[in-house]
Amino acid sequence: MKRIVFCGFRGTGKTGVGTIVAERTGLPFLDTDAIIEQQTGRSVPDIFHEDGEERFREEERKVIAGLPESGAVVSTGGGVVTDPVNMMHLRKDSVIIVLHAGIDTIEARLIQKPRPPLTNLPLREEIAAMLVRRQQHYQAAADFCIDTSETTPEAAAAAVMDLLARGSIPAKNRAPCTAFFKSGRIPPKCMDRLLAVLSDNPPDPLTRLAGVAGYPCAHSRGPFLFNALFARYGLDYHYTWFEDPELDEILRVARHLDVKGLSVTIPFKQEIIPLIDEVDEHAAQQIGAVNTVVFSCGTARGYNTDWIGVRKPLAGLKGSKAVLLGAGGAAAGAAFALTDLDMDTTILNRTPAKAKAMAERFGCSWGGLEDFMNLEPDVVVNSTPLGMNRGDRMPVDAALLKKEMTVFDLVYTPPVTPLIEAARKAGCTTITGTEMFIGQAKEQFYLFFGIDVPEEKIRELLP
Ligand code: NAP
Repeated sequence: MKRIVFCGFRGTGKTGVGTIVAERTGLPFLDTDAIIEQQTGRSVPDIFHEDGEERFREEERKVIAGLPESGAVVSTGGGVVTDPVNMMHLRKDSVIIVLHAGIDTIEARLIQKPRPPLTNLPLREEIAAMLVRRQQHYQAAADFCIDTSETTPEAAAAAVMDLLARGSIPAKNRAPCTAFFKSGRIPPKCMDRLLAVLSDNPPDPLTRLAGVAGYPCAHSRGPFLFNALFARYGLDYHYTWFEDPELDEILRVARHLDVKGLSVTIPFKQEIIPLIDEVDEHAAQQIGAVNTVVFSCGTARGYNTDWIGVRKPLAGLKGSKAVLLGAGGAAAGAAFALTDLDMDTTILNRTPAKAKAMAERFGCSWGGLEDFMNLEPDVVVNSTPLGMNRGDRMPVDAALLKKEMTVFDLVYTPPVTPLIEAARKAGCTTITGTEMFIGQAKEQFYLFFGIDVPEEKIRELLP
């Protein structure tokens, strides 16, 4: 039997529910905080307050790396989800159940059974602050969520047992949703696996789905990469293509099949914003585009990771003069990244009015594509799709490329575009769209599952 791991804030019932689930499954119950205390001979609050959080996480990492890999019910400390190394170990061949509860319930439980404070704040403020800080991490950690606010430990344990037996895709949704995927565009081998997951008798009812949502999106290499990462990290997930002209239909199917996450691509990055519950205020709200949606604990939360994929390869060129070609969804993330790197940026677009609107949002200059000849940038970023299809014209005249320039083409199919070829011929430094793909996928995997995959690992597993 898979290892069953409970995560959640203090006071959500991990020990109570975990103990009952251990009894019912006949598996041993292990509490990581109790093991740390046993092994160090010190209490968790003492380690925290005397030596700091990092020292505590070190002890926690040792204990978690040494847990039995199967056949156990594990209860973890409330902050374990913030540590990607711990998440990597806990996720392997396990099912993670996040217990959550409303702030009133948590406060009432912690008043009844006081525990040492984590901060200097009054209890309720501490709970509120910690929940906000950890929300993203609990959402990433959860394979399944149980709300313990209005329930007894026995009832919550019964809900866990039911979930373990049946999974989270309602039987009545399986067959109707299967029809959605039968466009013939999913490669046969991948389709076989998907059909097995969606069958009335799935090989494992706990397998969950994730995917790329777009139209078209059958060209996306995401499913090959994500499925290889699932195999590498022992995650019981399958990632597939959600290709449909109607975003509403994609979201309907995604919700019916309880997907964990969607990578959002053309043409839905803006359209999806009003259709989800929350949008990450750091980047996605400012960029005005969402390329990542995490569905967890009843909430769909949107993020933008495209900008990270653009920023990272250009991080050494802070303060340069940049030209961004295109003013669509990917360009918004790129403009955010370039201005975040203090680059003096000009946005050029086929439809100059769109370049103007985007330039005004990000404090850039703007113009039409033909204006490139009057600018001598250090950095050129192509965010138009030109180069994806055979016979596409170049986004800029190759004769205008100079060897001092760094040319970054966001197009990643084909891996070497005519623009990259021309830039290499001109002696420019070049960055291909694969670099952006790696950067944004790494961040996306972290948001979906809480694991920080090294870039080399992604490069190695790229299809
Ligand atoms: P989008 O929202 O549709 O925007 C496309 C932009 O390109 C618009 O500014 C559009 O200009 C311009 N454009 C389209 N066709 C053109 C043409 N024939 N000539 C000149 N300009 C043209 O698309 P997107 O989401 O930004 O994606 C753009 C590209 O980035 C795609 O190729 C995509 O694959 C790539 N991308 C790569 C990654 C990665 O990980 N490497 C991630 C995201 C996107 P108008 O405003 O005039 O229509």
